[in-house]
Amino acid sequence: MGLMTFRGGVHPHDGKEFSKDKPIRELLPKGELVYPISQHIGAPASPIVAVGDTVLRGQKIAEAGGFVSSPIYSSVSGTVKAIEPRRGAVGDMVNSIIIENDGEMKEVEYQPVDNIDSISKEDIINKVKEAGVVGMGGAGFPTHVKLSPKEPEKIDYIIANCAECEPYLTADYRRMIENPEMLVEGMKIVLKLFDNAKGIFGIEDNKPDAIAKVQELVKDEPRMEVCPLQTKYPQGGERQLIYATTRREINSTMLPADAGCIVDNVETLISIYNAVKLGKPVMNRIFTVTGDAVKEPGNFNICIGMSYAEILEEAGGFKEQPEKIISGGPMMGFAMFGLDIPTTKTSSSLLCLAKDDVAASETTACINCGRCVEACPERIIPSRLAKMGEHGDMIGFEKWNGMECIECGSCSFICPAKRPLAQSIKTMKKQILAERRKKN
Ligand code: SF4
Ligand code: SF4
Repeated sequence: MGLMTFRGGVHPHDGKEFSKDKPIRELLPKGELVYPISQHIGAPASPIVAVGDTVLRGQKIAEAGGFVSSPIYSSVSGTVKAIEPRRGAVGDMVNSIIIENDGEMKEVEYQPVDNIDSISKEDIINKVKEAGVVGMGGAGFPTHVKLSPKEPEKIDYIIANCAECEPYLTADYRRMIENPEMLVEGMKIVLKLFDNAKGIFGIEDNKPDAIAKVQELVKDEPRMEVCPLQTKYPQGGERQLIYATTRREINSTMLPADAGCIVDNVETLISIYNAVKLGKPVMNRIFTVTGDAVKEPGNFNICIGMSYAEILEEAGGFKEQPEKIISGGPMMGFAMFGLDIPTTKTSSSLLCLAKDDVAASETTACINCGRCVEACPERIIPSRLAKMGEHGDMIGFEKWNGMECIECGSCSFICPAKRPLAQSIKTMKKQILAERRKKN
């Protein structure tokens, strides 16, 4: 039997060679750290510290603002310098807590648990919630909400999203080969919540050493297995991963739980382990700095709140003037406003490209080659939908299933006419969602 996969998709240049062999390096931040109070989907957190307060590493500085929200913890010890709006990665101003780092890393006392089997389901959910765990693959959805579906007995699969299909990114890969035990323990904890579920690690076959490491750890675990996946973008898209590993399909009106699945990425499962077993809140994450414009690309264990500029400095700075600076990967990441921007729980990488071939090419008329249709993993028609987007045809766009677009960018990538298909579709989706909100 061939490797598991989904229909459609593309094979962009993977660019992982820059950083995949660079072991994770611990970074100690120097100056101030900035914590935007909205680092997750849902209500922003509410600050519970005041200017002038001294704080410890691991101390809560903002309380969750509702059920779908998440608290924020200081990743250093120091003094609260200000609570004020600061610029975020996309240029927006976000209320933020600014802490002057004293460089001492004095920590609160954590409450580790000796035996995971002694913890109740409710305790697991509470610990995950209290630790501020959110989807750290980029979605930022509070994990305790995801782990509390209406009918837990109907969950058949917990899928670890270990695909890391975005080109250039290697943070999850390094985690899998350096800390596979933490990943597997994280899965064990989640499986305790769902008596009927099986744990599947979906790993692309361009990471054979990661597949081997996790396979070795789960060989005597009857409820866990590794599912090697074909290396193809967007293999790590939630719907694509669910289909590849279980053959179940979901659409934009459904949650993975409606198909009996829960999907968590590598860093999220490790944060669940840290929260439940070690009693530690989310303070750090693995972050890749890469691209041909970076002097020493690598993978770093960063304190959340450090600026992109400071992390880049640790990677030796620029080797040459970058053409494009992206937060995240080249397919789904976004061009950055500047580098003096704080990292958050969902920041996974900084990509600095010296040459940007796509931007340099001129857009020409559609030649109706159909390649975008073939590449689209959602089986919709990007060329037609993009046209509808450009003409503001909301009715047609919805009728032709434009809302099913997962914004993966495969259509724009494959288009020989260099048409910004994904961008037009994404903009139209936003307008339709805004209209729907107005009506409700
Ligand atoms: S239409 Fe949407 S889902 Fe389809 S390839 Fe383009 S961006 Fe991806
Ligand atoms: S890939 Fe580009 S040129 Fe080909 S049909 Fe789609 S939009 Fe037209």
